[in-house]
Amino acid sequence: MQNNSKFWIVTDLDGTLMDENYDITPARDTLKLLSELAIPVIPCTSKTASEVRFFRNENGLLDPFIVENGAAIYGFNDDNSSEWELILGKSYEDLRFILNKISERINYNLTPLNDLNHNQIFELTGLSNHGIKRALKRQWSVPFLNPPDHIFEEVKVICKLYNVHVFKGNRMSHLLSNKSHKGEAVNKLKVYLNNKDVKIIALGDSQNDLPLLEYADISIVIPGKNGANRYLQNGIDKGRFRLANAPHAKGWSNSIEDILSNINNLQ
Ligand SMILES: [Mg+2]
Repeated sequence: MQNNSKFWIVTDLDGTLMDENYDITPARDTLKLLSELAIPVIPCTSKTASEVRFFRNENGLLDPFIVENGAAIYGFNDDNSSEWELILGKSYEDLRFILNKISERINYNLTPLNDLNHNQIFELTGLSNHGIKRALKRQWSVPFLNPPDHIFEEVKVICKLYNVHVFKGNRMSHLLSNKSHKGEAVNKLKVYLNNKDVKIIALGDSQNDLPLLEYADISIVIPGKNGANRYLQNGIDKGRFRLANAPHAKGWSNSIEDILSNINNLQ
């Protein structure tokens, strides 16, 4: 990757760069411009490595990528011959065991995505058959059906007993090691690539993006059609996060172009 850039754009995918139909069309010109400027675009998502490899190929991205909500980081060597991997999290099997323990404690069945049948996953995600296969290749986090809010708050408290934490995305919640989250993963990537001074421009739309937005130098909240996620509102109110002026890829593109037009102020 271009390792001498002063900026990295670190972006969530679902609900941020992609709309609910996984479309990124309004951001394509901006992605092309970023490629021409050699500014890295680093996906940072709850998706699996398998899903993000596919996404990168489809969209011509070459930079490292952070998967499963910050539990692992991947990238290719400069000659593209081999892929490297950094692991921050606990294994899927360990987390699965812990999720069952939490379910028992709260007397509420937290249902892992991987336990649903094909039709149920399609209903929830709208993914194609191949897309579903890629989404189920979980290694370092356990996605589960979003419980009601009061149960989610209870789960958050119980997690502390097991050294894990939970994040809530738009479609699912995710259980992962408390040593891994999106912000920690970006920090680890900076160290790995020996680029500690790089400035992070981060974009996200949900509660699982909070550690990334809190870590970043410039933090942009992408709203949905009904406005910003309530977990991110506090950062917007305090002036710590900027709110994009449109949902999904359109807001993403507008925000990045605005920053690029003022880039001299950032250097
Ligand atoms: Mg999202």
